[in-house]
Amino acid sequence: MTSGAKPPANNSTARWQAMDARHHIHPFTDAAALAAKGARVITRADGVWIEDSQGNRILDAMAGLWCVNVGYGNAELAEAGYAALQELPYYNAFFQTTHPHAAELAQKLSEITPPGMDRVLFANSGSEANDTIIKLVRYYWNLQGRRGKKLIISRHYAYHGSTMAAASLSGLTPMHPQWDLPLPNFVQHVAAPYWYGEGGDLSPEEFGIKAARALEQKIIEMGADNVGAFIGEPIQGAGGVIIPPASYWPEIQRICVEHDILLIADEVICGFGRTGKWFGSDTYAIKPDFMTLAKGLSSGYVPVSAVMLGQKVGDAIANASEELVHGFTYSGHPVACAVALKNIEIMQRDHLIERVGNDIGPYLQASLQTLADHPLVGEVRGIGLIAGIELVADKAARRHFPSAQDVGMTCRNFCFENNLIMRAVRDTMIVSPPLIISHAEVDELVRRARHCFDLTAKHFGIPLK
Ligand code: PMP
Repeated sequence: MTSGAKPPANNSTARWQAMDARHHIHPFTDAAALAAKGARVITRADGVWIEDSQGNRILDAMAGLWCVNVGYGNAELAEAGYAALQELPYYNAFFQTTHPHAAELAQKLSEITPPGMDRVLFANSGSEANDTIIKLVRYYWNLQGRRGKKLIISRHYAYHGSTMAAASLSGLTPMHPQWDLPLPNFVQHVAAPYWYGEGGDLSPEEFGIKAARALEQKIIEMGADNVGAFIGEPIQGAGGVIIPPASYWPEIQRICVEHDILLIADEVICGFGRTGKWFGSDTYAIKPDFMTLAKGLSSGYVPVSAVMLGQKVGDAIANASEELVHGFTYSGHPVACAVALKNIEIMQRDHLIERVGNDIGPYLQASLQTLADHPLVGEVRGIGLIAGIELVADKAARRHFPSAQDVGMTCRNFCFENNLIMRAVRDTMIVSPPLIISHAEVDELVRRARHCFDLTAKHFGIPLK
């Protein structure tokens, strides 16, 4: 599993692997296949580097699951968590109480999110937050007396989490059959603005309009009186880093306003600096009714998520004069709020987001573009510190390899063996590193990526120029 000559698995590694294989069911993993080869044991991390139990240092170009925005090993976050644990390890906000960290985080979030996003409801994961938003959409329209407006429109390649509701929203079809999803009468899926894969002869801008109009057609087909909301990630992440053409979001915004449909921006990946602004909604000038925040909110150090409510829905729900019958034991957990607050303070103080917008983001994108000459690489696309590198069989025709060849997974495995974490979505390799990545580390990332693309090409007998 590891590169070069390595010492044999030490006792602890073998022991952890055995315990894990026997007892631990992993998310999004074939348990039997993993048990047969043994999980790699990650023991520590700092900056953009994770380390395994055999001492290999691995460049984590994915920031965990797109979440460790300030990088690993941040002592200030650890200290903020420790202080909060000592002060008030737990209390809830159910029974007319709050605590300083929740109140301060709520205020801080209203300050950094787009104008009008003044109210927040806390949860613990992106999935829970999206589930919560679905409930709030229903509640909002019920409060308006428009009880028919229940359908949610989502997109192909969308990822919004893995609870029953969030997985139903997903446009990644493998998310559904094991669980008999999507839930009935719940969601409709429309085209994504995936120009490279589906744009054909249209220009990106023409295709952006066409993809947006698929939403309008669906609203007309279902009847606007039956549609509650449209949900979209500003940039679709887990679906393959689909960067929308500039024409796309303005048209979506127009359609939502004209047809009186709520707009949900799922900012779980795009939020907290990934695109070079605080939120994807800032980058694309989206004016959502709800925003989903998670991941970068705490840089992944503790589980916490948040639902931001825009003015219209926020006013309606805050002024409903009845109990909101919803909440989780850990909604607004004091330790999570303290860590999130410190995380935002660090991003502001160290100008991390400006750095992504003006310096390291453009540097990463330019560096990745140097890979475009590789025989496997069809498109390099990205913005800020998020990118997708799509591997194809025929560049001119934008033709993919047969899916049975699993070129993306083969490449991912070469990366893993060569101490580089890149994720594969179909045949698109994904990059989404911590915001603190240095120029030298970007150079190293690109060097390793090219080496792994070479290994992949050789594996499939494709000549290197
Ligand atoms: N929304 C988006 C856009 C995501 O990328 C994810 C996770 N990758 C989620 C929601 C779900 O978040 P969680 O895994 O924290 O439930």
